[in-house]
Amino acid sequence: MENYINGKWVKPHSAQYADVLNPSTGAVIERFACSNPEDVNAALESAKMAFKSWKKTPVAHRAKLQHQAAQLMRKHADELARTIANELGRPLAGCLTEISRSADLFDFYSEEGLRLKGEVPLHNLEGEKALIVREPVGVVVAITPFNYPITLLTMKLGAALMAGCTVVSKPSEDTPLSTLKLAEIFTEAGYPEGVFNVITGYGYDIGNALIEHSITAKIAFTGGTDTGLRIGALAAAHNKRVTLELGGQSPAIVCADANLAVAVPAIVRHAFANSGQFCYRVNRLYVHESIYADFLGQMVALTEKLTVGHPFSGCDMGPMVNQKIYQNSENQVQDALHKGALLKTGGHRMKGELYDKGWFFPPTILADTNHSMQIMTQETFGPVVGVMPFQTNEQAVAWANDSDFGLAAYVFSEQLGTGLRMAESLEAGSVWINNIHRSYHDVPFGGVKQSGIGREKGHYGIEAYTELKTIYLNY
Ligand code: NAD
Repeated sequence: MENYINGKWVKPHSAQYADVLNPSTGAVIERFACSNPEDVNAALESAKMAFKSWKKTPVAHRAKLQHQAAQLMRKHADELARTIANELGRPLAGCLTEISRSADLFDFYSEEGLRLKGEVPLHNLEGEKALIVREPVGVVVAITPFNYPITLLTMKLGAALMAGCTVVSKPSEDTPLSTLKLAEIFTEAGYPEGVFNVITGYGYDIGNALIEHSITAKIAFTGGTDTGLRIGALAAAHNKRVTLELGGQSPAIVCADANLAVAVPAIVRHAFANSGQFCYRVNRLYVHESIYADFLGQMVALTEKLTVGHPFSGCDMGPMVNQKIYQNSENQVQDALHKGALLKTGGHRMKGELYDKGWFFPPTILADTNHSMQIMTQETFGPVVGVMPFQTNEQAVAWANDSDFGLAAYVFSEQLGTGLRMAESLEAGSVWINNIHRSYHDVPFGGVKQSGIGREKGHYGIEAYTELKTIYLNY
């Protein structure tokens, strides 16, 4: 497929394309354009031209178009979801949920955009006033990872467009097809040319050109911490605005008085959904020693009910997206076993006719782990969790905070006061107490420490695409 620039499908200057592989079978499903800095320049020029009129477009009109795009996402949900299932390998039901939640997010931002406000301080100075207004930051480069290709883009796009920015999107080389399908929806919705552009290619080929370019005002990035640090450093050197949503290594603490009938299913769901390929998954568990054996028994039993297969087979989990992501899980399991962890279930690449051509790794539980092991300190981004016992709540919180990451954390205790005190002590952007829900659209999401800078979603998410301006009036 070609790049989507200024509302048209444009061949890359390099005339080169790369394969998109089906991670379940290894088969080539499509090809994407390998862009170079000339293509980057064309996409950014298109966004710059469109920005001139888009920033002056009434917010109500932007909201109308965005509601229209949301409706079209619902209309084309099956096609979009199948595209994700093919390029990512996630079971179809989860892909349909991704589309419906992304459409809802577009609707949410449309309405939140209508509520953006400026201020007039009441100085009560004769003949003088100051107006505080918000203006769009300008052209935004949205760089996204493979794991939720549409949700993670709409988090940026829905907010940026409502704020009056125009956007150049750079999807992951593993999953570019769904973003290109979304571009078709933008044409159908009637957006002016150049408001939304998509340019595909490898991050290391075009990343610098996208970030350094004089037209780029802001980089909205979701992806790995190493990539984010590189992007952040380059952006800082050119004084570009950034929002960075990076990696996680999220802990769950299960206290002695936890309700295991709630905790076990919540943790199993949140450790293994999308084959563990999501940023705020439960990666490590601290379980009170008095319930450790019981908890592990229940968790292993529930985990062994999960089915692994191809995305259209009605299974619970698909393959990992590529060899590199797969290998990380295998390496972390080997590292933990080498250092004395116990393998309770899973742990080995899945074999057989159904699995041999894909990157299938089963849901895996490692017990009796400690912080010398990678599974407790490094991001896994795969279906493996480490579990270790604790004696006191203070010790559990200290271990939970003994991490470079700070995206999310989870606490299970029937004493709400205990849960709340722990939540206040945990170093994380979001903490869930006593269950794990999806993150809501109207509350901020993001990380502390090495998990990111800034917040997406809620009104905070839109304000992040605006600059404040003060206008002094004398009359
Ligand atoms: P990645 O960092 O490898 O790639 C993400 C994107 O960055 C891709 O589009 C890639 O092409 C691009 N990229 C790579 N090098 C670049 C460079 N030098 N300059 C500019 N762009 C570059 O991440 P991934 O493997 O696709 O995704 C997995 C990671 O994403 C995990 O670490 C996960 O935790 C993180 N993630 C974070 C969140 C969050 O909200 N915090 C959400 C989802 C995923």
